[in-house]
Amino acid sequence: PAVIVAIDGPSGTGKSSTSKAVAARLGLSYLDTGAQYRAITWWMVTNGVDVTDPSEIAAVAGKPDIVSGTDPAGPTITVDGVDVAGPIRTQEVTAKVSAVSAVPEVRARITELQRSIAADARTGIVVEGRDIGTTVLPDADLKIFLTASPEARAARRSGELKNADVDATREALIKRDAADSSRKTSPLAKADDAVEVDTTDLTLAQVVECVVGLVEE
Ligand code: C5P
Repeated sequence: PAVIVAIDGPSGTGKSSTSKAVAARLGLSYLDTGAQYRAITWWMVTNGVDVTDPSEIAAVAGKPDIVSGTDPAGPTITVDGVDVAGPIRTQEVTAKVSAVSAVPEVRARITELQRSIAADARTGIVVEGRDIGTTVLPDADLKIFLTASPEARAARRSGELKNADVDATREALIKRDAADSSRKTSPLAKADDAVEVDTTDLTLAQVVECVVGLVEE
């Protein structure tokens, strides 16, 4: 039977690196749900949608065609056939994604897409996000909730961005997590039956070993 693993947590806790490595180790597909929310946000920005107006966002939420490639060795994301892997990581998209992903019509659309991708994964899938264990895949075989200190998260994110400004990165992360945790529809949250792993003092290899061990239990 297909194995479903949900990995949730705030930004900078190592979700993507961990999820890709676990999927590769176990021969499973991999889905980055943050990339899907970033892709719909990129489409809104590119098409001049006022992202401060939830009704404007809701009215066009069904328009973009978002396709995710789920090979953990090379995940892809396109919008209406355009490769957006680079553009979805800009500061502009990062600053606007929480507002777009808070709109219920956006969440309903993306959640449906996520469930159908998970159902199609033959051997199974590792799905990373904020609401996977609580809302998208509540029957997942294993739920992980990753945490790390704000300092560790900001340092990791600054390293990824090759950006020396750790303080500004930390402020932006804290702001985005606060917005993601306080929205009304499926906020960032740990499922009651999720295993919490604090990655502050762990290497990526250690976190991967821990999660693989839990899947194989
Ligand atoms: O994981 P990443 O930092 O790329 O996610 C970008 C944003 O997408 C999050 O800050 C959040 O606003 C949104 N998101 C979400 N639900 C998910 C995954 C991401 O609302 N399952």
